[in-house]
Amino acid sequence: MSPEIRDKYQVVIGLEVHAQMLTKSKAYSSDVNEFGSTPNSNVSVVTMGHPGTLPKMNRKTIEFAIRLGLACESDIAEHQNFARKNYFYPDLPKGYQITQDLTPICTNGNVYIKDDEGKEKAIRLTRIHMEEDAGKSIHDVDVFDTLVDLNRAGVPLVEIVSEPDLRSSKEAYSYLTEVRKLVRYLEICDGNMEESSLRCDANVSVMLKGAKEFGRRVEVKNMNSIRNVQKAIEFEINRHIEAVEKGEVIAQETRSYDALKNTTISMRSKEAANDYRFFPEPDLQPLVIKKSQIEGIKAKMPALPRELFLKYTNELKLSEYDAYNLTDSKELALYYEEIILNTTNYKSAANWMMGDIKSYLNHNGIGMGEFPIASKVIADLIRVIDDGKISSTVASQKIFPALLKAPEKAPLQIAEEMNLIQDSNQDALLTIIEEVLEQHSSEAERYKNGEQQLTGFFMGQLMKASKGKADPKAANILMRQTLDKL
Ligand code: ADP
Ligand code: MG
Repeated sequence: MSPEIRDKYQVVIGLEVHAQMLTKSKAYSSDVNEFGSTPNSNVSVVTMGHPGTLPKMNRKTIEFAIRLGLACESDIAEHQNFARKNYFYPDLPKGYQITQDLTPICTNGNVYIKDDEGKEKAIRLTRIHMEEDAGKSIHDVDVFDTLVDLNRAGVPLVEIVSEPDLRSSKEAYSYLTEVRKLVRYLEICDGNMEESSLRCDANVSVMLKGAKEFGRRVEVKNMNSIRNVQKAIEFEINRHIEAVEKGEVIAQETRSYDALKNTTISMRSKEAANDYRFFPEPDLQPLVIKKSQIEGIKAKMPALPRELFLKYTNELKLSEYDAYNLTDSKELALYYEEIILNTTNYKSAANWMMGDIKSYLNHNGIGMGEFPIASKVIADLIRVIDDGKISSTVASQKIFPALLKAPEKAPLQIAEEMNLIQDSNQDALLTIIEEVLEQHSSEAERYKNGEQQLTGFFMGQLMKASKGKADPKAANILMRQTLDKL
């Protein structure tokens, strides 16, 4: 499609996100809530909805939903009512899901994303409500039959519905990244899209720029990564624009994303959508949420990525890039928070985090929790560098690897033991420089004849001769001065 045609249209996207809550037991029964158990092993008569059994509300789910609502600046409803959503499906043994229809626990709210220009943009939330998951139909294990695993039936979910405020597939990507970060920081969901503990339905439409009314939306499901959500939306945008350009009408329907072919296929039409016959759940009492309960949860809220981001950029004066990377995961951010309790060199602390520490973690495929060096020791290391006792190069190449092996030692002790305390003494440096120039007299001659790029070579020789102990900054200045006098 030509950019001119594409440019005629405005894309409109709203996302519905389901997040599985990290509770120990299910939403309305004491069955274990655990991914990966033997199929159909966490299924009691309550989950099966046998006659005479009664659901019992898992209070933790309410706390988790409130935590999310508070983090998103939502209004928390005082009265909670539950509803039955009735439909037949093999992975729904009760024949209905318990959900919230007219009284979602949270209404309004915002999730902050970066728009395509990198500016902050608020995406409004319509609602967040609590419901239970259905079981899982497995189509790809048995060649002839579909298998059903009911372990997931009754697992608590929150559904987060956004207003149609997103304007590109990239914004949708950014929104989902922020939502996932949020549920992980709040420790209410593991955010794992591959295991479908976080799922997203994308509603997509297009309209001519300047049009007053949104185009007809199509809902796309079954994307197992944030990247695939972006790809599925991109595919839909093109499909819609091509259809509209040909004068066709977009059918309001639900489509499924096929990651292998990068296409979407029609699942069902919305016109023929089920009537779920919602009615009040007769087995669960309406619930009242007290102000004091909300205050209690508020008091225990962890630091959130956006708060930290704003602190890092506004107070610590880090770049947005650094702040974004540091707040990418809670583990990283909390470790950084610990380092800066003991140093005010925030930029250097950020560099250590995003440089040596992160590469060590990536290289070994481990998380921050398994990182052997205490945050206090990293702060000490920064101090030893700032005091001019060792260069950053020596710190990174020699001390850091030594600390990984002996994390109980102090950086200064290691520097002394390894005889790495830096020589910034000008006389000593000058002696080495003169030795280097003497040993490499032909290069010195070439430098004199204009080959200035040889400075690097001389510096390399100098660092080698000083066994890496020379302060590169001081050495560089002195080297240039000496060379220019040749
Ligand atoms: P349903 O259950 O039919 O999917 P919901 O109210 O749960 O309805 O979700 C509707 C979603 O579709 C919301 O995220 C909303 O922002 C989005 N949406 C509504 N209208 C449009 C539109 N014209 N284009 C894109 N998204 C839309
Ligand atoms: Mg929907």
